Formats: sequence, structure tokens, C-alpha cells
Amino acid sequence: MRPARALIDLGALQDNYLLARRLGGGKAVAVIKADAYGHGAVHCARALEGIADAFGVACIEEAIELREAGISAPILLLEGFLDADELPLIDRYAFWTAVASPWQRDALARYTPAAPLHVWLKLDSGMHRLGLSPDDFARALQQLSSDPKIGSVVAMSHLARADELDSDFSETQRQVFEAATRDFTGPTSFNNSPALLGWPGIRSDWVRPGLMLYGANPFPLDAPIPHVLRPVMQLESKVIAVRDLPAGEAVGYGARFTAPVPMRIGVVAMGYADGYPQLAPNGTPVVVDGVATRLIGRVSMDMLTVDLTDLPQAGVGSAVVFWGHQPLPTPSQIAQACGTSGYALLCGIKRVRRDYIAAPAAAATRDPAAAHALG
Ligand SMILES: *Cc1c(COP(=O)(O)O)cnc(C)c1O
Repeated sequence: MRPARALIDLGALQDNYLLARRLGGGKAVAVIKADAYGHGAVHCARALEGIADAFGVACIEEAIELREAGISAPILLLEGFLDADELPLIDRYAFWTAVASPWQRDALARYTPAAPLHVWLKLDSGMHRLGLSPDDFARALQQLSSDPKIGSVVAMSHLARADELDSDFSETQRQVFEAATRDFTGPTSFNNSPALLGWPGIRSDWVRPGLMLYGANPFPLDAPIPHVLRPVMQLESKVIAVRDLPAGEAVGYGARFTAPVPMRIGVVAMGYADGYPQLAPNGTPVVVDGVATRLIGRVSMDMLTVDLTDLPQAGVGSAVVFWGHQPLPTPSQIAQACGTSGYALLCGIKRVRRDYIAAPAAAATRDPAAAHALG
């Protein structure tokens, strides 16, 4: 069997969720879109069910997958329906839907649901991607709040630059959101992971952590965060071949690395088809048999090569770890070394087997705030 695998620690996922909710001070949507950022949405949802107040996904296909797997908690479509045909499904599966564009507002107005719908009305507070303009938002908020077809309304918006701790744009967006919701007495939702971790002054009733659930830091690494996140994924594989490389010989495609002195090279079953970054530079950290060493040569589709010169005891079958929790390199450190983000790194993981470490029993009791979520 190919040894490449992602080991997923569901207890760490629970702890990160509980931290996010504590920082938010209210309720928290666990954002598990994109197959839980590469961690497996159904497994992650099962680990968080009974703890999480709701789940957030990008589209109805992701939402249906969770319901069909037996997840009964509320599931929010973060971008709303992408076609008006989805409204009967939203109704039938009791999904919560964002309404983030004028066409969605109009389609909703024409639709008669069997049971009142739960709507998250989105304001464009400055990101200029989704969301209604402040005028449209104010009208729609009033209209939905008095519409008997609508069971409840949450006012939401999204931050564009919360990962930039030296930018004042988040504060500008906060002011726009606050002005637009001043007369609204229902719940609000604003904070993503960087807002929860970096902007304690920005508050909302419902927070929407994504990346931080998986233990990755949304900020550049020179801005360390004061909270302990537990990386959830450990990516690992094994050495499948070893060779000696004479001085002056190069390894792999494009001869991107030439041995300056005689070297010992390990070939590892991990490549860009698994989601390991193709553009990882020479020197990217890897850990072999518990010892830190480095990637050398270009990453290929199914394999990559590492320096074993100083690890004479390592050989075929040696364990290789690419990221995990400290002292291993973290996903955020590898992402930074490869010129990508923790988001893209984790979401990109595919093909590798996923093995899950079950959470310890009664995680909810580790956090007093969780008790009420369990009723
Ligand atoms: C993806 C997403 C989130 C989660 O963002 P993170 O930065 O991963 O915490 C929150 N809200 C919305 C609307 C999203 O699309």
C-alpha cells in the first residue's frame, strides 16, 4: 500500500472549535466547506456534532453530503443558493441559506416554502464580492424581518483584510456593518478566523471560523498569535528508495538541485498529485525518522527527494513527516516556505489516505460554554 497519508486529529479539531467559540463569545458556525479544508467534511462534522452550533459549506452539494451522512445540526450555505432550483432542496433539507445578491433576494421573494426559511442576509461592507449594497440591505432586512415565510434572519458580512493586522480596513468594514445593522434587533455574524484571532474589538453574535479549526495560523508568521491552535493534519509518507549522488550530479526533473559534494538521497512517496506544493523550493523542511532535514530537487507528481546525507541510519521504509504540530514544521510554516497560504496548502491535499484519530470522550465538557450547546 502507498504509505502517503494524512493523519487527522479530531480532538485537536474539537479544541480549536471550542477556542474559536470562546473567543467569539456567542455561537460559532464551524466552516467545513471544501471537504473541511482537505480534512474530510463528514468525519469532521461527526466529530463536531453535539458541540458545534452549526456548520458552514460553500454549496448545496456539500450540504447534502452532510445531511445524507446523518448530520442533523443546522447547515448554512455561505454563498446561498447558486440557482433558484435549489430552493426546494433548501426547504426539504432544512438548510440555512445566505442571501447575498439581488437576484437571490428576488428568487426568494417568488418562492413559497413548505416551512419558514432561515436566512443570513449579507451586506457588502467593503469586500465587493458578495453582499447587498447598504441601501438594498436595509430594505431587504426590513422586508424579510416581517415576512411570515421567513423563520429567522441573521445579518452577516465578511472581512476582506482581517489577516493584515496593520490595516485599518477591518475597522472601516466594522463601522459600515454596524451602521447598516443599527436598527436591527436580530443576530449578527461577521468574524472569520483572522478576525477572531487578531481583532478582539470586532464582535458579532455568530462567528464563522474556518482555517483556525484546522489549527493553521491565518497571519504571516512574523505576527505570532497569542492563542494555541493545534494543527489537525499530520502529512506523512515513507522513503521508497535511497541512492548515493556523486558530487556534480543533479537529481530529478529539470536538474534543479546539483550535489555540491557526495550526498545520500531519499526518494519519498509524496508528490504534487497529493497536493504537496509543486513549487516547494530546495531546503523546504521535512522530518525523516524524527530528524529535521530538507527537500532537494523539484517535486514530481508522485515522488519527491530529500537529503539523507546526515542521516546514515535512515533508509527504505523510514518515516517522513511534512507537517504536523510543533516541533514538526506546521502547515503555516510550510505554506510560507512554498509561497502559498495555509488555506491553499490544506485544501489542496488529495489522493492520500486519511486516517482519523478519534477525539477523547466528552470533549464538550472541556469547555463550560459547550454545555449549553448540548442542552
Ligand atoms: C470561508 C468562509 C469563512 C471562514 O473563513 P476563515 O478565514 O477560513 O476562517 C467565513 N465566512 C465565509 C462567508 C466564508 O466564505
